[in-house]
Amino acid sequence: MKKIHKLLVANRGEISLRIMRTAREMGIKTVAVYSEADRHAPHVKYADEAVCLGPAPSNQSYLVIDKIIQACKDLKVDAIHPGYGFLSENAKFAQRVIEAGIIFVGPSPQAIEVMGSKLAAKQAVSKYGIPMVPGTEEAIADIDEAKSTAASIGYPILIKASAGGGGKGMRIVEKEEEFEEQMQRAISEAQSAFGDGAVFIEKYITSPRHIEIQVLGDHHGNVVHLFERECSVQRRHQKVVEEAPSAVVSDDMRHSMGEAAIKVAKACDYYGAGTVEFIVDEALNFYFLEMNTRLQVEHPVTEMITGVDLVKEQILVAEGLPLSFDQKDLKIHGHAVEIRVYAEDPKNNFLPDIGKLQTYIRPQGSGVRVDDGFEQGMDIPIYYDPMIAKLITHADTREKAMDRMIRAIEEYQITGIETTLGFCKFVMKHEAFRSGDFDTKFVERYFTPESLDEQWTDDELSLLAASAVEIFESSKKDLRKVKSLHGDQFPRTKWKNRLL
Ligand code: ADP
Ligand code: ADP
Ligand code: MG
Repeated sequence: MKKIHKLLVANRGEISLRIMRTAREMGIKTVAVYSEADRHAPHVKYADEAVCLGPAPSNQSYLVIDKIIQACKDLKVDAIHPGYGFLSENAKFAQRVIEAGIIFVGPSPQAIEVMGSKLAAKQAVSKYGIPMVPGTEEAIADIDEAKSTAASIGYPILIKASAGGGGKGMRIVEKEEEFEEQMQRAISEAQSAFGDGAVFIEKYITSPRHIEIQVLGDHHGNVVHLFERECSVQRRHQKVVEEAPSAVVSDDMRHSMGEAAIKVAKACDYYGAGTVEFIVDEALNFYFLEMNTRLQVEHPVTEMITGVDLVKEQILVAEGLPLSFDQKDLKIHGHAVEIRVYAEDPKNNFLPDIGKLQTYIRPQGSGVRVDDGFEQGMDIPIYYDPMIAKLITHADTREKAMDRMIRAIEEYQITGIETTLGFCKFVMKHEAFRSGDFDTKFVERYFTPESLDEQWTDDELSLLAASAVEIFESSKKDLRKVKSLHGDQFPRTKWKNRLL
């Protein structure tokens, strides 16, 4: 057992702030790291101390392990929290941190290593009877063999990068003729994004929902689950809207998924916070996808419904303490929804839209949480993920949480760049989302750039028509008045043109 006195957060933006807030509440001093592009960022101002790591590109700053470890030595830091993204799922980093005598707030390097490879993860959990998507157990080595496996599984299939993450390195193959081309694309994408070209085959579930289970383990062999989050609204296989609990998960299903997730965690002697992701088919069968060995972007929805501060638990576990609650102490309270506010243009294929936050005014009020890392007047740097903020609402029912989200989105004022706010409001109002009858195809099935054009209700339209008539009548009166004053000199055509 070792008390943490000073914590360095090896990350930036909203997650860096979110972690430091909890550390501060626990009486732990905080150290921020930053690149030259983030010199004036809120996470730097918030920290007790801050260290510049180098130039803007992350491979010269946020990803340089030596510099981060050196900063810990210089400032007598006793623990590192990696956040998500960046080095959070880098087993070598975790190992180096531990070797330097610093506490790594996360699981063991071995667990990160196993779960970082989707294939190794499947092998590790295969003996525990966890349902798995049909597919290959090894990386594709022989194209003909792979094609015959694909044929026996049945098209469409998905070619996936074993080292994949963030929705990258994934290709759908509809029919055998496309197999080779899509495989080559997946390999080259995986090679360039992860430095590892190993790919494998999975059956493509055609109408899937993405439902994941939050787990927490300690160094004493205890593992609990904190229920599910549904993250089916995605673009480019990446989440934009999340909620907890899921609209379709019954108590029984929750129990089975939770048990399966705990088995996955135990299969790699997991400690700390982690997420076991499942894909769920139309008949509500669930299959193991992967385990993310870190704090997840969407963890706040779980915090809102359970009242647990996941970062606090991560820190306590890292100090060697046993979990302060067990499974039966955990209950679901109400419903929470999260939207990711990205600097992206939904009308232009969700491409990043970088620029200055001319206006930036956050929503407030009961049941509203904003986790962000920006202030008005700041530039969104091009070097990193374009997420500006996460907006979370909580209420006692799903419907009220969605209505509260619509209210909060309407209060949020961002100008200067395009964001996903309007898109997320479209989701919150959409019948498919509201009824709970949706899957990961939500965006391609329902969303077009025109969806964001001003929508008028029938009542609004008749009001509009009535006022148009009123304006027309009063201008006719004005015309008669002008004509009576000016007689025949009145320039009819000019006025007519103007009225048209
Ligand atoms: P979550 O499952 O927590 O929602 P995402 O898949 O959206 O996580 O990824 C969270 C962040 O980490 C994003 O900024 C994403 O770009 C980044 N990320 C996730 N996995 C990887 C990876 N293997 N390599 C690089 N970046 C990653
Ligand atoms: P990543 O590491 O990029 O997060 P995942 O395996 O978690 O990769 O998959 C990301 C998303 O891709 C899922 O949430 C889902 O939308 C889609 N997906 C993954 N596997 C399948 C599958 N077998 N069938 C259909 N969709 C899938
Ligand atoms: Mg995933």
